[in-house]
Amino acid sequence: MKVTKADIVISAVSPKQYPTGILPEIALAGRSNVGKSSFINKIINRKNLARTSSKPGKTQTLNFYIINDFFHFVDVPGYGYAKVSKKEREKWGSMMEEYFTERANLKMAALIVDIRHEPTKDDIRMYDFLKFHDLPVMVVATKLDKIPKSKRAKHIKRVRDTLNMDETDKVIPFSAETAEGKDDAWRLIESFIR
Ligand code: GDP
Repeated sequence: MKVTKADIVISAVSPKQYPTGILPEIALAGRSNVGKSSFINKIINRKNLARTSSKPGKTQTLNFYIINDFFHFVDVPGYGYAKVSKKEREKWGSMMEEYFTERANLKMAALIVDIRHEPTKDDIRMYDFLKFHDLPVMVVATKLDKIPKSKRAKHIKRVRDTLNMDETDKVIPFSAETAEGKDDAWRLIESFIR
C-alpha cells in the first residue's frame, strides 16, 4: 500500500474514546524498546508519527492512527519494563482486556519481536493473549539488519518455535534500517483489511 495520508486520531484511555465507525483495525503490540514505533514509522513512511520509546511513568494510551482514510493502526502500549509498578501493570492489563474483548473492528494483530533474541516470557504471554482473543497474528521479527544472513533461518525458526505459533500465522523478518520485509508486511496487512 502506498501511504499518502497518515494521522493520529486519538490517544485513548477508555472505550468511549475509541473512534466510532467501521474502519478495520490492525493492532500493534510489543515489548518496550523492541522497535515498534520504528516499524510503524517505516511502513507508513513517516519519520516520527509514532513516538519512539515511550518511557514508563508516562500515561499509557492506545494510539489510533488513520491510514489513507481506509483503516486504523492501533499502537498499544509496550510491555515488559521491569520497573513498572503493580498498579500501572494492572491499569495496562485492564486497558488491553477492554480493547481486545470488545473491539469488533479489529482484524489482526502484529506482534513485534527482536529477531536476535529468543522471545521472552512476556512475548509468549502476549502471543497467547492475542490467540485467546481469536486474532490472526503477524509476528514481525525486527532488527533483521543486526544478524548475518546465514543465521536468518535459524532465528526465524526459534521465534516460531518459542511462541509455539499457529501454522496459519506468519513471521515477517523486518528491518526499520533497510526496509527489508516492508512489502511482505503490507501484503499481509492488506489481506486482512480488504
Ligand atoms: P519501541 O519502544 O518499541 O517503540 O522502540 P523504538 O522504535 O523506539 O526502537 C528502539 C531502539 O531500537 C531505537 O534506538 C531504534 O533506533 C532501534 N531500532 C528499531 N528498529 C530497528 C531496526 O530494524 N534495526 C536497528 N538496527 N535498530 C532498530
